[in-house]
Amino acid sequence: GSLPGWDRVEDLVGAAHARYRDVDDGVVADYIPVLATVDPGLYGVCVAESGGAVHGAGDTEVEFSVQSISKAFVYALVCEEFGHQDVLERVGVNNTGLPFNSVIAVELNDGHPMNPMVNAGALATTALMPGASFGEQWENVRGGLSAFAGRQLELDDEVYRSESATNMRNKAIARLLQSYGRIEVDPLEVVDVYTRQCALRVSAHDLAVMGATLADGGVNPVTGERVVSGQVCRDTLAVLAATGMYERSGEWLFEIGLPAKSGVAGGIVAVAPGKGAIGTFSPPLDPAGNSVRGQRATAYLSRTLGLNVFASA
Ligand code: GLU
Repeated sequence: GSLPGWDRVEDLVGAAHARYRDVDDGVVADYIPVLATVDPGLYGVCVAESGGAVHGAGDTEVEFSVQSISKAFVYALVCEEFGHQDVLERVGVNNTGLPFNSVIAVELNDGHPMNPMVNAGALATTALMPGASFGEQWENVRGGLSAFAGRQLELDDEVYRSESATNMRNKAIARLLQSYGRIEVDPLEVVDVYTRQCALRVSAHDLAVMGATLADGGVNPVTGERVVSGQVCRDTLAVLAATGMYERSGEWLFEIGLPAKSGVAGGIVAVAPGKGAIGTFSPPLDPAGNSVRGQRATAYLSRTLGLNVFASA
């Protein structure tokens, strides 16, 4: 099936925003100091259809740092370059069951990063981005994510500097991967590209279009540009289903039934293959790091738009 008609989707997006606007559970992330200064009341909900129609309610154009959601799209770009088997062997696809920035997960798995949605795997993935220098790799990350969004994305310099000053843990993970031979270039330069990648500014609208590109077999439904192949979209969505929502990935799939990725600045993108995607933004997070209002809005839209990938009707 496809999505209901334009008016119906428009109404449901408005309802998803209105229903959860007054929810005030959750706390904004503060381990990156500047993130703690955001307005917790910001809230936007957006749906992009695979045909290119976009529906939004609330703060859909407010920009925030993409954070871990970047991992999904950088992974897709690296899959496009290296292919299914190579990326499977190097980075893996299994959930760790441990927090996204776990160090012990790397040791427990003999240095294997496990999957590209935890920091170890994301660092190993970013290290594989095409480019003759770290500067070129960064430009390719930025260019690639911009192609998914259909507009030029910019670095949030304040977030980049705030995280660069406090990301000792990511530097430790990168060094640990290097010790196992899993990162073969300068690990601190990889962390720098990764930190920039996390500090790219997006809106809920951007997330919806980026997700709809994965839903649409790799063609951006707004610009018409092919960004990655259909095979790469399948690979990426499978990884998101298993690992995209931190330690809550199983519960998320059970309740909502959509491959999705969240980030600590409060964004979530959820993808309905062949149909479109939902992008939400609301900074207060649950203990696992997932936006509280974003989860509720996405659950509501998955249910009312009939998006659960496991539903037979
Ligand atoms: N840049 C953040 C980190 O590496 C991303 C965290 C997240 O969104 O999960 O710690």
